[in-house]
Amino acid sequence: MNKNLKSEEGVTLFWFRRDLRINDNKGLYEALKASSRVLPLFIFDEDILDRLPPDDHRVEFIYEGLGSLQRQLNECGSGLVVRKGKPFEVFIRLLREYRIEAVYSNGDHEPYGLSRDEKMKALLESHGIPFFSFNDHLVFGKNEVLKADGSPYLVFTPYSRQWKQALKMSGASHYPSESLGQNYVRGDFATFPSPEDFGFKRSGMEMPGLRINEGLIRRYDKTRNFPFMDGTSRLGPHLRFGTISLRKLVNMALNLNEVFLNELIWREFYAMILWHFPKVVNHSFKAVYDRLSWSNDEEAFRKWKAGLTGYPMVDAGMRQLNATGFMHNRLRMITASFLVKHLLIDWRWGESWFGERLFDYELSSNNGGWQWSAGTGCDAAPYFRVFNPTEQQKKFDPESEFVKKWIPELGSPDYPGPLVDHKMARERWLREVKELVILSRKNH
Ligand code: FAD
Repeated sequence: MNKNLKSEEGVTLFWFRRDLRINDNKGLYEALKASSRVLPLFIFDEDILDRLPPDDHRVEFIYEGLGSLQRQLNECGSGLVVRKGKPFEVFIRLLREYRIEAVYSNGDHEPYGLSRDEKMKALLESHGIPFFSFNDHLVFGKNEVLKADGSPYLVFTPYSRQWKQALKMSGASHYPSESLGQNYVRGDFATFPSPEDFGFKRSGMEMPGLRINEGLIRRYDKTRNFPFMDGTSRLGPHLRFGTISLRKLVNMALNLNEVFLNELIWREFYAMILWHFPKVVNHSFKAVYDRLSWSNDEEAFRKWKAGLTGYPMVDAGMRQLNATGFMHNRLRMITASFLVKHLLIDWRWGESWFGERLFDYELSSNNGGWQWSAGTGCDAAPYFRVFNPTEQQKKFDPESEFVKKWIPELGSPDYPGPLVDHKMARERWLREVKELVILSRKNH
């Protein structure tokens, strides 16, 4: 225990999770308003870590984010308590160490986060400790943007219209948690555990910086589709782990660019879908597509992952992902469509590979993006839209700048020929889905 922390004095814990910042943090603001002894906590969750390698780049990103939090908290004379373990067991220990008066946090929309918090609430309440949870990582909670009949939207455009309407009514709020720095527990928090203390290793990957660039957002609608322009915000990991305030971004988008705002709303749309329909984690939203007979060719999958399909636009995207943990949205659509429709490989295989590699991996957006690309989702690309990777390259990388950057051997005998013929693959896909499409129409 921290030597300056007297166990007899009560504390209010603020439990950081996917909200790693002290400014405009709703749950933190509520905790600091309610108590003058807020003790910040982070738990490296073994329920999650046990499924990841020790050098996972997202874990390193979190670790770096905690270092920055620690520095900011140190400036307020406070600091972070960092633990590693299964949250339930960590809390059992914390209950012995501190006189906890309340626990504050921000909630999640994913099945795991929801069930973790339910268990934690029950544990704390059994000790007479209230557990408060706020909605910080999305603008609207599960049931705040619904159809007139109270059911969730299944199509993006009307959802986004209603979302914008709801925002107009509620106003884009700000929670000035940064102004209440005097309410943290003070103490000697100078030592901060090293990655090795937790058994982590450096990933060797470059951590995504935080660039909030007004000019880029202003130009976003003109540049966002062209991978060689690098004209997107790269804020994905920061939104995933809350190192930036979503509300701040929404305000910027409202003033600068509606197309950018729409992308933030896609993020909310997919979160809302997962929240209402957690079955999408393992199943196609349109159930009939779970009857597709996939080829699931392991060798073709390996080549797709390695960027060796012989289609430059697909391979450049996969190599960008492998090397940097980022893939441009246009390429996510092309590579996902290719895996499913050209190679007839189950979208869940691709989804899980993206889940291993993406810095900005977000279950709801990844699942939504994959089900959109595969045509199995609620508001998805139509089954007959099979991206032609060669045509996509002509349109979105006309000078081959992007593909040349990622495939130095392009044009030499070292670069493989096409893994499948586009025309054959397209016809095979259309044959495969035709029956299912008829069936799905009958079911509606
Ligand atoms: P920008 O284009 O600058 O957009 C700003 C932010 O808006 C993004 O950071 C993201 O939070 C959100 N956003 C943008 N486009 C979308 C979208 N189509 N759906 C949902 N949110 C969006 N996004 C993820 O955040 N995590 C994922 O795991 C993920 N997996 C995807 C998988 C597939 C197959 C596809 C087609 C898309 C996926 N996306 C995912 C959506 C999108 O590709 C990324 O959000 C975007 O490329 C991230 O780059 P950026 O931060 O520069 O985004």
